Amino acid sequence: MRYYSTNGKAPMATLHEAVVKGLAGDRGLYMPETIKTLPQSFFDNIDKLSFQEIAFTVAQAFFGEDVNEEDLRKIVYDTLSFDCPVARVTENIYSLELFHGPTLAFKDVGARFMARLLQYFIRQEGNEEVNVLVATSGDTGSAVANGFLGVDGIHVYVLYPKGKVSKIQECQFTTLGKNITAVEVDGVFDDCQALVKNAFMDEELNNHMKLTSANSINVARFLPQAFYYFNAYARMKALGKADEMVVCVPSGNFGNITAALFGHRMGLPIKRFIAANNANDIFYNYLQTGKYEPKASRQTIANAMDVGDPSNFARIYDLYKGDHSAVTSIISGATYSDDMIRETMRQCYADNGYILDPHGACGYRALSEQLKAGETGVFCETAHPAKFKDTVDSIIGAEVEIPERLAAFMKGEKQSVEMGKSFAEFKEYLISR
Ligand SMILES: *Cc1c(COP(=O)(O)O)cnc(C)c1O
Repeated sequence: MRYYSTNGKAPMATLHEAVVKGLAGDRGLYMPETIKTLPQSFFDNIDKLSFQEIAFTVAQAFFGEDVNEEDLRKIVYDTLSFDCPVARVTENIYSLELFHGPTLAFKDVGARFMARLLQYFIRQEGNEEVNVLVATSGDTGSAVANGFLGVDGIHVYVLYPKGKVSKIQECQFTTLGKNITAVEVDGVFDDCQALVKNAFMDEELNNHMKLTSANSINVARFLPQAFYYFNAYARMKALGKADEMVVCVPSGNFGNITAALFGHRMGLPIKRFIAANNANDIFYNYLQTGKYEPKASRQTIANAMDVGDPSNFARIYDLYKGDHSAVTSIISGATYSDDMIRETMRQCYADNGYILDPHGACGYRALSEQLKAGETGVFCETAHPAKFKDTVDSIIGAEVEIPERLAAFMKGEKQSVEMGKSFAEFKEYLISR
């Protein structure tokens, strides 16, 4: 499979090149040249297949030309060492629980897949040392760091905004040591993302060391996120609830919903989608006006969605050829203030006994407001509520239980490198390493 850039000014890349480069040379995002449609027979029988079997079929459509079958099967099965089940919240609203992985958020799926695919390519190549740079607003860092922890030949630098991620998120990438370095940037998430993007564009730095990205822009991270939408459909079909299925994705950088839209393009019978935003309403405004106007990000209690210029908008725009009415015919939007998120968490807990995290709360609320008669909604519960324990406990007035695998991180000791937001300083640090 060849990959083209959404900016159209960079040469086509192989999967291997697209994974190692992350961002295309013209600053565009890579897109697969073709998106294969899966046969009707697959969808007819999908409810009888396991999550891993479903994911392997989807993975073959994306990666089957570039990775041999047995290695790909192993990568998929190793990645999905945990389930992504659907849980009933109300009669017509289900939660797609994406928090059963090692760092309790959906990013485990893409990060674990990418770590294994990159290792596959590095082994093919010989012993080149690769440096993974990742900007995080909270959950990416932990998922990527844990996905790569202890992998020979790869060093990971996690850049995060100082004081703007929760203590629990922070300990999941600052306490690991080994091949993981946490870089604490005096700025916001967009500053971290700018440092990473600048590093990839800097010729001198790239001649000095081999850099790759593990942000949601990387095809090896965002495409595997399609796996669990197929699984959600399968499990809902088994319940007899898949006929008019609406999928709602709490969105920040828009990688997760873009993967869902790729699934739709492959034939996954989802009726329509909702992108739920917090107060960072750039995509919501685009849906209303047809104009895409990035802004500085605003800090909210759903902090992994605090993105003022979502990277994957370029992929959505490309997928629908810039046709605003094509986008609005399949996706609607929603935007919620922190107060509305709090109110939703309280209400959902009181009515259904289900504990939402602040991100999932946006998804649940958008479905409860927008579902029509006969439709069933599935929203992504993108992280375990215990990852935001202080916030969640104070809102619902109860104690969220901390899962064992999360408690283990909290016992570690924090190590980080402090950094300003100027690229010159970051570059000098990398070169001196
Ligand atoms: C990253 C993240 C999101 C946003 O996902 P995008 O793919 O960036 O849109 C939502 N919720 C949680 C918990 C996250 O970690």
